[in-house]
Amino acid sequence: MSTLDRFASEKLAALEFASLRRAPLATDRSAFPTVSRDGRRLVSFSCNDYLGLAIDPRVAAAAKAALDAYGLGAGGSRLVSGEHPLYAALESRLAAMKKTDGACVFGSGYLANIGVIGALASPDDLLLIDELAHNCLHAGATLSRAAIRRFRHNDADQVAQLLGSARADHRHAFVVTETVFSMDGDRAPLSTLADAAARHDAWLVSDDAHGFGVVEGGDAIIPVQLGTLSKSVGAYGGYCCASEPVCALLKSRARPLMFSTALPPAVLAGAVAALDIMAAHPDLTAAPLRKARLFTELLGLPLAESAIVPLILGAPGEALAASAALAEAGFLVTAIRPPTVPPGTARLRFAFSALHDDRDIERLAAVLRTTSGVAHALERWRMAPCPAYS
Ligand SMILES: *Cc1c(COP(=O)(O)O)cnc(C)c1O
Repeated sequence: MSTLDRFASEKLAALEFASLRRAPLATDRSAFPTVSRDGRRLVSFSCNDYLGLAIDPRVAAAAKAALDAYGLGAGGSRLVSGEHPLYAALESRLAAMKKTDGACVFGSGYLANIGVIGALASPDDLLLIDELAHNCLHAGATLSRAAIRRFRHNDADQVAQLLGSARADHRHAFVVTETVFSMDGDRAPLSTLADAAARHDAWLVSDDAHGFGVVEGGDAIIPVQLGTLSKSVGAYGGYCCASEPVCALLKSRARPLMFSTALPPAVLAGAVAALDIMAAHPDLTAAPLRKARLFTELLGLPLAESAIVPLILGAPGEALAASAALAEAGFLVTAIRPPTVPPGTARLRFAFSALHDDRDIERLAAVLRTTSGVAHALERWRMAPCPAYS
C-alpha cells in the first residue's frame, strides 16, 4: 500500500471508529418528498427543497428551453467571456425581492460567502462571527485574513461589548451571522445586531440560505444579504444583494466570480422561473413554516421559527441509531454530526417542505415518540429549548 493510501485508510478507520465516517448514498428524489434508496421508498425530511421547486415541471421546462436554445456550458467566467443576458434578469428579480438596489450572483452559496467576505474584508479589519455560522462564513473570514472574533450564538450583547472594546483598533468591522441557522432552525436577533453594528460603524452581513422563500426577509437594516439559489429556489448558485456600489465592487473584485466559470444558462433560466413562482404564490412560501409548526405542536416542542427543527441527541452513534430506526419506519432523516455541528450535539435535523403531506408529519411524530433514544431527547428539549448552547 502506498503511503498516501495508508494515510487515507487510517484516517477513514479513525472516522469510522468515532461514528463520523460519511459517504453519499445514491438516492432518487424525482418523486420528492418520497425518495428511493436501495430499492426502498422513504419520505424525506432531509432535503432543503422547501418549496418543491427543485422538481417543479415549470422550472424544469424553463431550464430545458434554455438548454435547447443555448447549450450546456457558460464558456468562461462572466468577466472574460461576457455573461448571458439571463444574469441581468435573475439579478433584478433578486434585488426586487430583497429590496436592494443591486444583486450579484455567484456559482454557489458557498462561493458567494467566501467571495463576498474575501472581497470586502482585509487584514486591517475586524470580523465578529456567530459561533454557529455556516462553515463557509468561517472559511470566508479565514481567507480574508481579518482579525476574527467568534461571539456566542445570537448574543447581541457580546457583539456590542466586543465592538466597544476592539472596534477602534480596526479600519472596518463586520458582524456576520445567519438569518435562519442551518442546523438549529432558530433566527438571529437581526434588529438588535443591526443597532449594535450601527452604533460602532460596523457592517452587518447575514446569510439567508434557509430563510429566503420561507420566512419574511429582505431587510434594509442588513446592508449585505447573502444567500443561495439551491434551497427554496430549487436551482443552483448563490447571491449577494446589496447597494449598487457594493455589487459593482463585488463584480470587480470577488475572486470566485473572477476566477470561476459562470453558471450554465439553463440554471439561470430555471432560477428565474422559480423566483417568479415564489413571488406569485405567498401560499406556497407560507407552507414550510406551517408544516414545521404542525410538527412541533404535535410533539409539544417550542414553536418552530423556520422550516428546520433539530432534535439534539448528543453522541454521533446515537444520532445514527435514531436515523436508522426512522429509516426502518419509512423516513429519511439524516443524522447530523460534528464537524457540521459542535461536538456533543449530534442530532436529527428535520427540514419541512411545502410538498409534505400533513399525514406523513403526523406519522413521523408518532414514530418519534416510540423510537428508543429519542423520547428522552424530546423531553429534554421540551424542558430547555436550546439545551446545547444555553
Ligand atoms: C447551504 C448553505 C450554504 C451553501 O450554499 P450552496 O449554494 O449549497 O453552496 C451557505 N450558507 C448556509 C447557511 C447554508 O446553509
